[in-house]
Parts: sequence; C-alpha cells; structure tokens
Amino acid sequence: MKARIYVGFGLVVLLAAGLLGFRYSAATPQGLASEPEYVPNEVLVKFKPLTLEAAVIQVIESIQGQIVGRHGSIVSAGLWAENRSEYRSFLSDPDLFLVKVPPALGTKRAITELLSDVHVEFAEKNFIYKAALTPDDTYYSLQWGLHNTGYAQSGGTADADIDAPEAWEEFTGSDDITIAVIDTGIDFAHVDLEPNIWTNAGETGGGKETDGVDNDGNGYIDDWHGWDFVNDDNDPTDDRYIYFHGTHVSGIAGARGNNSSGIAGVCWYAKLMPLKLLDSGGNGSTSDAISAIDYAVSVGVQVINASWGGTGASSSLIQAIERAKASGILFVAAAGNTSPPLNINTDPHYPASYDIDNIISVLATTSSDTLASYSNYGSYAVDLGAPGGTDLTQNNYNIFSDKPGQQYQHLAGTSMATPFVSGAAALVLGQRPTIDWWQAKTMILKSIDTLASLQGKARTSGRLNAHSLLTYSTPVLPDAPTNLQGDWCENGPFVDISLTWTDNADNESGFKIYMQSSPGIFSYLGSTSANVTTFWLTEVGAGTYYFYVRAYKTDGESPKTATITVHTF
Ligand code: CA
Ligand code: CA
Ligand code: CA
Repeated sequence: MKARIYVGFGLVVLLAAGLLGFRYSAATPQGLASEPEYVPNEVLVKFKPLTLEAAVIQVIESIQGQIVGRHGSIVSAGLWAENRSEYRSFLSDPDLFLVKVPPALGTKRAITELLSDVHVEFAEKNFIYKAALTPDDTYYSLQWGLHNTGYAQSGGTADADIDAPEAWEEFTGSDDITIAVIDTGIDFAHVDLEPNIWTNAGETGGGKETDGVDNDGNGYIDDWHGWDFVNDDNDPTDDRYIYFHGTHVSGIAGARGNNSSGIAGVCWYAKLMPLKLLDSGGNGSTSDAISAIDYAVSVGVQVINASWGGTGASSSLIQAIERAKASGILFVAAAGNTSPPLNINTDPHYPASYDIDNIISVLATTSSDTLASYSNYGSYAVDLGAPGGTDLTQNNYNIFSDKPGQQYQHLAGTSMATPFVSGAAALVLGQRPTIDWWQAKTMILKSIDTLASLQGKARTSGRLNAHSLLTYSTPVLPDAPTNLQGDWCENGPFVDISLTWTDNADNESGFKIYMQSSPGIFSYLGSTSANVTTFWLTEVGAGTYYFYVRAYKTDGESPKTATITVHTF
C-alpha cells in the first residue's frame, strides 16, 4: 500500500484533513521556511494529452523510473504498455503517473529532467499531508488519558486512554456547545482556556469593563463571564495558587487543542462557562449550587460539569437538576473520592447518586486502565469510568492539566475523570447538532471499552472511549411514557398491583417496568409489548412499592417516567 498521507501513530487514512469532516483546518506547518514533506523518490508526472505510448515509455525509462500501479504494484514502463488499464496509476486520469525514481537520481533531479521533456505537462513531488490528529500542544506527550503515552504503572496496559486522536479524526469541537463548569472558577487568562471562555453577549460594554447595569435583565449585573456565587460578584476567577480545581477541570474538558501551548482538551472548541460555587477551601453550598445550575439553565448550556459532591441528600438540588433535564442539559457528576472508597449505591455521594436520567456519574480509572484505589464506585449509581489518575500525589500517572498563571500540574481524582466525559459529551453534541441529551447519554454509555476491573463497579462496566462515541450510529429512541399510575387490590392473602401509563412513542418495541429492589436501587421487573400500557404485579405481600417505566426498542430505552409509590395493606 502506498503510504502517501500520514497521520499520527502510523495510521494511513484517506486523503487530506478536509475530507475527514474537520470543522477546523489542519495544523499549520511548523516553521514556514521549511520545505513541505514529500515521499522521497516518487514523482507525479503528467503527460500532455495524446502523448504516444512510445514517448511515455521513453521518458520514464530516461530517468530509470518505474510506474506505481493503482493498487501498489511497481512495474516497468514496458510492462505498463502491455496492460495499460491494469497498471495505470490513477483510475480517472490515464495521463498522470506516479513514478518511482532511483535514489541515486533523487526526486528533485528527476523532476528537473522530466520538466525539460516536451511531452511532460508537469512533474511534481508527492507531498505528504498530515491531519491535525497529533496536536502540537507543548505537554501533549504527558496526556496519557487522551492517547497512548506509555505511562502505565508496572504490570498495567499502556492503552488506558480514551482514543482521543482517533476521535479528533472525526471532530474536534464546536463553539455552539457550552460546558458550564460549576467549580472554583476558571483562570480566563490561561493561554489554553482564554480562547474558549464563554462571554455573555447580552451584557453590553465590552470586555471586562463594567457599566453597573444588568443589561440582559437576568438578575446578574455585568456577568460577562458567568458568575461568582461564593462572593456574589461578576468575577468567577478561581483562587489562584490556593485552590485552582476549576481551571484544572476546565483544561481537561476544553483546553484549546493544537494551539502550540499547554495541553489539549478532550474537546478543542467549546465554550467554557465559569460558575464559581467552591471557595478557596473547595467548599460550596447547596443554595449556591442551585443558583449556578439555574444560571446555566437560563443561558441554555448543553453540559454541566459537576466535579464535586457530598453526602447530604437535597430535594431542592434534585429539583434544580430536574430543571436542567427539562432544558435538555447533561449533568456530568463525579462519583467522589472517599477514604476508604465507597459503594455509592448504598453510601450515596450526591449529586452522583441521584437517580435522574440526565446525570452521568463518573468514576476514575488509572493509567493501567483499572479502577483507581481512591475512587468511589457503584453498579447502579455510577455510569462509567474515565481517566482520573492513579493516586493522590503528583506524578506522571496522574492527569496533567492547566493551573492559573500559565502553569500546569498533575492532579488525580474523580474530579479529573468527570471532565473527560463532559468534553466527550461536548464533542458528540457538536458533531451531531440534532441529537438530544438522552441520545448523547445513551451513546456515551454504549460506546465504552469494557474493563474487567469495572465489573460490578459501574453500570456499564466500562471506560469512556471518545472515538467509539463519535463513530457510534445515532440511536433512534422512543419517547418516554408519562402519567404512570398505580393501584392495588386484595387477592386472597396477597395483593395484586396494577400499573398504567401513557404511551407517547410510535416506535417502541414495548415497555420495561422497574421496581425498587433495595433502597435507591431499581431492578428490571418485567415488560409489556408495544402499545400495551398496563402491567400487573400479582400475589405480592402488603407493603410499599416503588416503580418507574421506560419504553424500549433495539437501539435503547427512553427516559423514565416519574417514580411512583404504591402503598398496600
Ligand atoms: Ca446580566
Ligand atoms: Ca493547548
Ligand atoms: Ca406506541
């Protein structure tokens, strides 16, 4: 095979970056003065129309050239003449030849000689085009979560990454997608983040200047770049050098890639909205979290990154996340780091443990592609894993990202794993503008790499794979049923429970009924056929039962109904 066009890792792909669906152009060549790369000792030579076969043979033989056939065969000009259709170099242009020339002659001299021949229309180098798959960011080589760097600890696999360069062949991001980073704030001036910081077009005045007026009437004066809910002001910059969690998280999800600086984010182009919830000690309140979520909802972001949590269950926070769901926003939440790590099915860590369909709950994996020793987990409450680093010290097995003041640092935690998923969500939502939050979540969870170490630790038993995500067929999913109702009647010493709901789908294979099997955990109970909107659970004991229902088809399930409670006695 003729390896004329190269991309990272020795892969050979079809044609140039423009045909790979990039929204943005490929990397600019490094060093304008240097000569573009070309395949040595190969020349593209075009003969003038109606050039006789004998002349073609004579010209090619004059430089001791051989013709490279369309399927890679290398033949003499004489053999070409015996079977012109089999050995031509190009299907549609019989006058254009790819010619191999002797190294002793060399590409440049061969071209000079060919150009001097009256039969030759042109002769040129076989240039190499590179897709921008291997970004030129300074510290890209440290980012094992994105690509294979060899930073595996002893005994582990080096391939613990999310296949980011392969994903970037498909798509590198879109400014139409906004990730609200509800965290400690963001250093807007960081070279990796400044080009991607969200700006409020509704506030007039320009830049960071303030006019003291709430121009867009959203209740926040001069909220140019989000809001600081800790100090209630318009500067959600994180507390430099003291607590810079939000800058680090933002870099992982959305550092501008291929800008010759710093690192590459999972998503190179997205808007990052700083919403400061956490103070310099890393602490934030439920009320500020609700305000930050509502701000993100009011602006209309697509993704919220929540690399924080705690053990306090909050109905008001649940309702705020439900409002985000109603606005079609994915809420990506960290499973948490607890010492010792917790099964958050039974020892909940909120918001990750809330059973709300727009939450994607993320645990941390190591550079050896195993569950991190510090990471919480849960077969029901956690959806998937993503690279988070190996331990809580600074080393090459942890996640390298941005730090305020044009600095960088290694950190580890489920906080670092979460923005890998947020960035991937931004990629797929930008790549496919017509999909909704539920299709995006379904794709993220179905396109994982299954890991033995995550069996029983996460709902998918898998780790994020951005390339599989961006090449996954868009699922066609049924609309969610609504209006779930429960009733019951006595049946001898038992009770029978009936469930009914409203079918809103025209494409479902049927409906699946889920019942709470232990506190906070729902298990599959049974199903009905398409258009059948009644289900009976018969001969059960008296008690309190909890249910929800989803429509399903081959591609996946719908969002669930509201959960209902049936008390029998
Ligand atoms: Ca405002
Ligand atoms: Ca960068
Ligand atoms: Ca139906």
